[in-house]
Amino acid sequence: MLELHNVQTFYGNIQALRGIDLEIRSGEIITLIGANGAGKSTTLMSICGVVPPRSGEIKFRGEPIHGLSPDRIVALGVCQVPEGRHIFPLLTVQENLDMGAFLRNDKEEIKRDRDYVFSLFPILAERRNQAGGTLSGGEQQMLAMSRALMARPQLLLLDEPSMGLAPLIIRQIFEIIKKINDEQDTTIFLVEQNANQALHIADRGYVIENGSITLSDSASNLLANPAVQKAYLGI
Ligand code: ATP
Repeated sequence: MLELHNVQTFYGNIQALRGIDLEIRSGEIITLIGANGAGKSTTLMSICGVVPPRSGEIKFRGEPIHGLSPDRIVALGVCQVPEGRHIFPLLTVQENLDMGAFLRNDKEEIKRDRDYVFSLFPILAERRNQAGGTLSGGEQQMLAMSRALMARPQLLLLDEPSMGLAPLIIRQIFEIIKKINDEQDTTIFLVEQNANQALHIADRGYVIENGSITLSDSASNLLANPAVQKAYLGI
């Protein structure tokens, strides 16, 4: 579904990605783990066109997407839930969801998708007329994920969904990510510092260090890998 070949991305003179190669197959949950500043967010920003790579190739369903504008990439079916959620704080929950469906015209299907996200996150249905900015951190994460789902993505990019949340909420969010993957047939690319939780729901994982992929394996092998355990799992 998605292929990155030798992707190099810069912020001015600073090289953040030093030739990233990775692939994501349809239906998979893939996680990218790494320390602060390793290049995880930049990888997602490069895929969705917000920080376009200076060189290399990104293909979605076999077609090059590097160089396309972010809105074209969303229209193709690639949607990001950014780090820090970035919901619209002054819009209601319902209006935030409507923004997620901005590029769609199929009213009946939009309503069906809204009912679906409300079934995933009933608390959002209860708070549908409340301003997004008044929600708790966990609820805002739920809203950001729901807003992305309203675009009906084929590939959902999640940037640190667990950041700043209580353990109970994190568990709930990860369960829902797995559920979305199972029920909606949505392929997931999950960027996380919480490697333990991420590897427990992922099929495969990549490790990124200083802008380079240093390891890729099945999630179960990564969980059992002593170097990964020491660096990322606190074992
Ligand atoms: P974190 O977990 O802290 O979000 P990350 O793995 O997502 O880290 P990135 O945010 O992708 O890492 O950062 C990769 C590198 O690019 C770091 O060295 C970072 O300092 C640098 N960087 C990120 N954003 C910018 C920017 N806007 N301007 C300059 N350098 C940046």
